[in-house]
Amino acid sequence: MYAQVIVDVPTYHVDRPFDYRVPAKFASIIEPGMRVHVPFGRRPVLGFVVGLSSTTEVPQKKLKPITALLDLEPVITSELLALAKWLKHETICFEIDALQVMLPSALRAKYEKIIEIVPGAILDERLQSYFDDKTQVKIEVFEQAHVLAEVKKAIQQQQVRLKTVIKQRGTVKEQRYVQIGTHTEIEQALQQVNKRAKKQIQLLHWAKQHAEQVYLPQKVLDDSATSLSVLQAVVALGGLQFVQKEVLRDPHQNSVEQTSNHTLTSEQQMATDAIHDALKQKKATTFLLQGVTGSGKTEIYLQTIEQALQQGKQAIMLVPEISLTPQMTERFRGRFGNQVAVMHSGLSVGEKFDEWRKIQRGEVQVVVGARSAVFAPFTNLGLIILDEEHESTYKQEDTPRYHARDVAIWRSEYYQCPVVLGSATPALESYARATKGVYTLLQLTKRATNQALPVVDVVDMREELRQGNHSMFSTILIEAIRERLTKKEQMVLFLNRRGYSSFVMCRDCGTVVQCVNCDISLTYHRSQEHLRCHYCGHEQAVPTQCPACESDRIRYFGTGTQKVEEELYRLFPEARVLRMDVDTTRKKGAHEKILSAFGRQEADILLGTQMIAKGLDFPNITLVGVLSADTTLHLADFRASEKTFQLLTQVSGRAGRHDKEGQVIIQSYTPEHYAIDLAKQQHYETFYTQEMQMRRLAGYPPYFYIALIQIAHEEVWQAQDYANHVADYLRHQLPHVRIIGPAAAQISRLQNRYRYQCLIKYKIEPNLIPVLHQLIALYRAEWQKKGVHLTVDLDPSMI
Ligand code: ADP
Ligand code: ZN
Ligand code: ZN
Repeated sequence: MYAQVIVDVPTYHVDRPFDYRVPAKFASIIEPGMRVHVPFGRRPVLGFVVGLSSTTEVPQKKLKPITALLDLEPVITSELLALAKWLKHETICFEIDALQVMLPSALRAKYEKIIEIVPGAILDERLQSYFDDKTQVKIEVFEQAHVLAEVKKAIQQQQVRLKTVIKQRGTVKEQRYVQIGTHTEIEQALQQVNKRAKKQIQLLHWAKQHAEQVYLPQKVLDDSATSLSVLQAVVALGGLQFVQKEVLRDPHQNSVEQTSNHTLTSEQQMATDAIHDALKQKKATTFLLQGVTGSGKTEIYLQTIEQALQQGKQAIMLVPEISLTPQMTERFRGRFGNQVAVMHSGLSVGEKFDEWRKIQRGEVQVVVGARSAVFAPFTNLGLIILDEEHESTYKQEDTPRYHARDVAIWRSEYYQCPVVLGSATPALESYARATKGVYTLLQLTKRATNQALPVVDVVDMREELRQGNHSMFSTILIEAIRERLTKKEQMVLFLNRRGYSSFVMCRDCGTVVQCVNCDISLTYHRSQEHLRCHYCGHEQAVPTQCPACESDRIRYFGTGTQKVEEELYRLFPEARVLRMDVDTTRKKGAHEKILSAFGRQEADILLGTQMIAKGLDFPNITLVGVLSADTTLHLADFRASEKTFQLLTQVSGRAGRHDKEGQVIIQSYTPEHYAIDLAKQQHYETFYTQEMQMRRLAGYPPYFYIALIQIAHEEVWQAQDYANHVADYLRHQLPHVRIIGPAAAQISRLQNRYRYQCLIKYKIEPNLIPVLHQLIALYRAEWQKKGVHLTVDLDPSMI
């Protein structure tokens, strides 16, 4: 028997299965989707079996055997094997990368370099001391000890050799249990036992009543009122036995109160019915569920998942990592109890593995998780949901550069089941598809609690300055905060910190310095103290005067949360402030602690960055303040307006969700910008229409697709040279497509390499994927060994 194996050698220029011989001892167990160790070249590597056959075209002499079989059941289902092939083609990645991304990191290979003494060799004393009684030592030990030169010499003299070994990480957690034998076995033990060993007899009598059961040792000792030495003696007799069993770690120590369904509003009912119909009729419909903040989308998710479960199916619930708050997961655990697995980055490697195991073994029917949970190895999927579907974190920015939305739709077609994309502010691409009927639009226009949407005020910060207020808080925000402090109501203050300090703005008129060619804000580079366009490469000095109003108060812009916190305490010494940002949430569980403290009303003000924009559902929040609405607006990104609109709508949605009315105050230096003005009016459709016009004029998605090719090299001239090659090649191969660039990349130097990029804009271009595959082939065959790094992203979320 022969196995076709995809090997973990992602730099190799041939990305295809290799044939290996299956040793007789594995023949009856091996299946596609299992992991193996195989020799490749001179080293062992991890591989995935993707097929089995009884013949091979490889000459017998050249065939090597599989050296180890790592799994007793496939870790990649046949469906996911097919999905990996599709990902390889669609995102232009190695098949091995597509396979690895589907597994918890515990199951990915870890390679170690080992130095091994050649038998009979005599090492010099210094080197010998590192081996002591061992014959193998990890190479890191020598690196730390700075004896690498001596190691190299010993390798040359063939005293030691360098080996690569694959280490399995500690994945399965085992625990000792007591297995009680059958009735007959215990009777036999009773006949052998010494009549004076009263305690042993007592234990055996207890065991007779619990034949064939498995218990933790402590439980046995407690119930039978005996001691460990008695238990050990009985085990020696044979009536009972110790066994090692896999135990699954439970990351949720706290138990959650069971919650029941809300009676749906009529809008919720219509949406639920539509999804339910698709479920029953096994239709791979993609629904776009657009519902204002607080309209009860989550309740729809819960009830439709319940319907899927009633049909004996499974469900995947995806949420952006940032909104995987304890509040969110508890709502799911409250409804589905221990049928839910939760996957997020806060879990340890072992915990993640166990959550994955529960899915793989069919012990849970629902997974709530971030992006990669879209690969959950369910085999009877009935429903996939993406909450906040517009979030850019659904796109992986590393190979394989997949979008969870695309993967979800692929899987829904495989299982003929519906997908629900939920958002208050859908991505323009999704809404455009809904208007064309590609997706089915479901809308919720009212809040589920019947509470009105909050009242939004926009404060013109330029005016504040003119009035002599130089603080980061406007007069009306200060007043509103003071009022809430008196009334003992809670507030959320949001600092939009993405794009921190990266653009230059006039403090007097709000003008942001833009590129002469591109209508995109120029990015400020502190190191060279100049401005640069990341689309076309245009560069210029930082102006000393505002090009619009000639004010000299023009400078780069940004404030940190810490500074805001200090200012808050200065203004309101009595206020209790909780700060939530990357600094305060570094520790495991910190996120959870801050939010639950806020939920218990131990603080008046929750101050934070993007991570507080979503998912919070606290009844006592009546004020949301946005300190700087403009920061995302001037990102060097064609989606800047869209992201700003989405973010402002999201944060505003945290206010007044329950019986108390909410107020939102947005501070801005450009209140006339349509993204801010329409966020104030909370008018998605108008924003959509206006933004679509801009995209059409500028030639961006959803009117055009874009693909991004990045080229990097340690030498700047080499990087430029190859980038020019790529642009020429693309212009030649794709004459009807717009190729923009090459230009310096957003991050122009990364990991010691200079980066350039070419942008492809296209509508329908059947040749694009084949041409890009050819480009990659050229790169792998010739450029890679010259130190070039090339990546292709067919749907970049940022440029
Ligand atoms: P969304 O996900 O659209 O922001 P949620 O599902 O979080 O909205 O609902 C907002 C609030 O309304 C939650 O506190 C939820 O418990 C409540 N809710 C949802 N549906 C109903 C309903 N049908 N009746 C009463 N309350 C509801
Ligand atoms: Zn100005
Ligand atoms: Zn430009």
